[in-house]
Amino acid sequence: MADAPFLPYGKQVIEDDDVAAVAEALRGDFLTTGPSVAAFEDAFAARVGARHAVSCANGTAALHLTALALGLKPGDRSIVPAITFLATANCARYVGADVTFADVDPATALMTDATFEDALGRAGAAAKSVYPVHMNGQTADMAAISKRARARGLAVVEDACHALGGAYRVADGVEAKVGACRHSDMAIFSFHPVKIIACGEGGMVTTNDDTLAAAMRRQRSHGMVREPGQFEDKAQAFGPDGSSNPWYYEMPEPGFNYRLSDIHAALGLSQLKKLDRFAARRGKLVAAYDRALSPYAPVLCPLGRTAYDAPGWHLYVALIDFERAGIDRGACMRRLVAAGIGSQVHYLPLHRQPYYRRRYGAMSLPGAERYYAEALSLPLSAQMTEDDVGRVTRALTAALGLDNKTDKGRR
Ligand SMILES: *Cc1c(COP(=O)(O)O)cnc(C)c1O
Repeated sequence: MADAPFLPYGKQVIEDDDVAAVAEALRGDFLTTGPSVAAFEDAFAARVGARHAVSCANGTAALHLTALALGLKPGDRSIVPAITFLATANCARYVGADVTFADVDPATALMTDATFEDALGRAGAAAKSVYPVHMNGQTADMAAISKRARARGLAVVEDACHALGGAYRVADGVEAKVGACRHSDMAIFSFHPVKIIACGEGGMVTTNDDTLAAAMRRQRSHGMVREPGQFEDKAQAFGPDGSSNPWYYEMPEPGFNYRLSDIHAALGLSQLKKLDRFAARRGKLVAAYDRALSPYAPVLCPLGRTAYDAPGWHLYVALIDFERAGIDRGACMRRLVAAGIGSQVHYLPLHRQPYYRRRYGAMSLPGAERYYAEALSLPLSAQMTEDDVGRVTRALTAALGLDNKTDKGRR
């Protein structure tokens, strides 16, 4: 076992054709804002079934672009589940808006219609948007959440970083891909190396709304406008014969440089072609983990499952009663490292981060706190085999003292 390669909790799969695609982009005429960016956006939009896909530098920039496009501002509130990556909440703060944290179901880490309703009650009339997060790859109950959000006039943005390749039911017998925005205004994705497909750094926003897409394309490139029809200063913009001046551009409001390079986009496009294969392998590994871990309930349990989706798995989370196992999580993780296995906790509850605790005061969100106490992300990536799952299971049950039939865990 000591000779086996270290298994990190997540890792990219880069193959020869990915390397060739990047090399080709490097030899091309554009290193940024060229044909690979357009091709990646078109292929991504087609893959998820959305009208627009707007690429950007990373998933955090994608979140920021959604907040800018929605015009969120000081005095507004975004509702964000307490279990997610920092950036889902931070994007509200980037535009001066505030965050109301929603609790989650401790079995799935998902914001539910009920925890959303509770957060809406606390946020009051300032609530302007909700950012459901498809934690680990399972989708939040978008039908119910979007219905409630629409009734209150809130915009809906899916943080779909964990769920690329997944789908959910939108009506009886009708499925929509995650990213199709059937129940949302926008959905965002990340192509960080641990995510389902990798660009190195990269992000995408999908939407069916032309105005939101145009606003995000402007904001990701300095707020610059180059379409003559939109110029305000006609005297500067047009020459004596009425044609637009070739050098001219305008900035109605300042934006950012959040562009994705052609080098990154070429990798993304190559990886996107493998999404079905990667997602299928991840699904198989998840099923293998479920089978391997289920005998160890209730000390060690697979993540709870929702009824309404076909997940695109990003993480494999086990829920562990560390108290009952008689070992703390840090010690368990160190034992796993000694066996060549990486693990991680996704995520520390956001309402307990010092910044948010100072800003909003201490609060109790029992679902989030319980999930956080039990969650451990085990290795999951598309290059793993079912033997690797066996190796992780043996190391984990040994670390938890469940391997010697003390019947601490076995049913
Ligand atoms: C990875 C991730 C992000 C941020 O994406 P980056 O590309 O790392 O900026 C945001 N939200 C969730 C849920 C993520 O997993």
